[in-house]
Parts: sequence; structure tokens; C-alpha cells
Amino acid sequence: MSECVFCKIVAGEGEASVVHRGGSVMAFLDINPINQGHVLVVPHIHYERFSNVDVPVLGEMMHVAQRVLQAIETSKIACDGANIFLSDGEVAGQEVPHTHLHIAPRFKEDGHRMGFSGIHLGGASRESLNGTAKLIADAMKR
Ligand code: AMP
Repeated sequence: MSECVFCKIVAGEGEASVVHRGGSVMAFLDINPINQGHVLVVPHIHYERFSNVDVPVLGEMMHVAQRVLQAIETSKIACDGANIFLSDGEVAGQEVPHTHLHIAPRFKEDGHRMGFSGIHLGGASRESLNGTAKLIADAMKR
């Protein structure tokens, strides 16, 4: 049996507070929410990384994320906005190696901050930005 905590939930062998079960994804509450209504959208298949997710599944993940957020917005859960995010890889803060989208409702003065350290690459000239754009665009053609 898989050791993955999300695979166990998908298989019905792990406890979860489920908000949606669909064709290829499910959505359940994060066990350690940053605010009420913090939901995870999780594909049934154990894709460890974002890059591996099949496009139709990716589409369903995004669609379910939107529906979950729309539902939260019409509920009595405090939600003036939301952070929808995915941490890909340990270095990016991914703790559960089964890719998943977070939908984290936010409200004014909820005490949270999201974002990076504030350190930016200094002096990104147009030349250097164009060089980086070419690296990625060329790789996308392969
Ligand atoms: P990440 O850092 O993006 O991998 O996020 C993993 C998230 O999964 C964290 O916010 C955890 O609180 C959440 N989590 C871990 N185990 C469970 C579980 N059994 N049920 C629900 N959420 C979980």
C-alpha cells in the first residue's frame, strides 16, 4: 500500500473532510488551515511534481479550484480574496510529495503575508530579460 498520505485519502483509507470528489481530482480541507476554508485540490493519480501532471487533470484541478473558491465566496466563510498556490519541490516548500493546489481564503487583517523574501535580482536589463525569455521559449519548442 502507498505510504503517501494523499494517496491514502484518495483511496478512502485516510480521514479527510471532503468538499468535492470528481473524475480525476478531489478536494478536502487542509488539516492545518491558515484560515477557515483552506482547501487542497488533489489529483487521484500520484503525480509528485507539477511538471508530470497530465493536461486534462491539470484543467480539472484548476476548474475545481475555481468552483471551490466560488462556493467559499458565497458561503459565510470570511473571504475577501484568496491565495491559490502550488509549491513544487522541497526547495519551494512542498511538504507532501503528491502535487496539490491550495485555495486559502484571505480577509483583511487576517495577519498573514504571502510572498517572497523581498530580495530581487538587481538590474534585470531588457537584454538579460530577453536572454532568459529566449532560453525558455527555445526549450518550449523542443
Ligand atoms: P505543501 O507544503 O504545499 O506540500 O502543503 C501540504 C499541506 O498538506 C499542508 O498545508 C498540510 O497542512 C496539509 N496536510 C498534510 N497532511 C494532511 C492530511 N492528512 N489531511 C489534510 N491536509 C494535510
